Amino acid sequence: MGGGPMHAQAPRSWTLDDFEIGKPLGKGQFGSVYLAREKKTKYIVGLKVLFKSQLVKNRVEHQLRREIEIQSHLRHPNILRLFGYFYDDTRIFLILEYAARGELYKQLCGHQFDEPRAATYVASLAHSLNYCHSKHVIHRDLKPENILIGLNGDLKIADFGWSVHAPRNRRTTLCGTLDYLPPEMVEGKSHDHTVDVWALGILAYEFLIGTPPFETDSRQATFRKISSVDLCIPSTISRNAADLIGRLLVKDPAERLALKDVLRHPWILEHASDTLASLERRKS
Ligand code: AMP
Repeated sequence: MGGGPMHAQAPRSWTLDDFEIGKPLGKGQFGSVYLAREKKTKYIVGLKVLFKSQLVKNRVEHQLRREIEIQSHLRHPNILRLFGYFYDDTRIFLILEYAARGELYKQLCGHQFDEPRAATYVASLAHSLNYCHSKHVIHRDLKPENILIGLNGDLKIADFGWSVHAPRNRRTTLCGTLDYLPPEMVEGKSHDHTVDVWALGILAYEFLIGTPPFETDSRQATFRKISSVDLCIPSTISRNAADLIGRLLVKDPAERLALKDVLRHPWILEHASDTLASLERRKS
């Protein structure tokens, strides 16, 4: 989308009056997201409304500050743009790029993607994560719930609430699902940018199989499976896809495939298309 009219404007302070508010797009943990249109330019955005009281109660103000700081400086077609923010007495508003096709999570939900779609997604994620890492940003929370889909079908990585500026070697408290976390994180050891490479391996598996590889109904069992990389790749998966997944889900962080090499891997070269538009054409 190359910036668009929102980007063309000089940095300015926005207010709620600058926007016409449309339908709700979804509800998150700390507030809601609405379709909105900037009155002057008619530019469509997603307006995220967060309640200050809830942010304070859950002690996530610092996380939001970091998310704004990091996401507003990233410019990549597969990373959701954060155009700006403003606030009133009770709320904080984030002006986000509108992702017209919603959540990747909803498309996945136990379904499998064919190889062209899975490989195109993996390539776009590898490219955008490589861009983040070149800016010393680690996402650390890559999972289908945090990935949106744009109008053209391209993935948009969102939710930088857990991201950090590297290097940062500290223990983290683990809330939520363990499924996308690497051994060094579930074991509470220090970690680096290769945590995103591991998560990409989990996603590649999930795109092709429908569920993440270490999913169980108990946290302890998932912990053990991750820690021992108890990986079972079904024989329905093509040899090249299995090879790529095996090179991403490696216990030793230093031995995981570099993201630039993901883009050169035979499975990606064979199946990924430059745009999802050409993929759509192939389907019809
Ligand atoms: P969140 O609070 O970020 O978890 O957002 C809640 C829900 O709103 C998401 O799960 C999406 O379905 C939807 N949503 C959030 N941001 C956008 C956006 N920029 N474009 C379209 N839908 C969005």
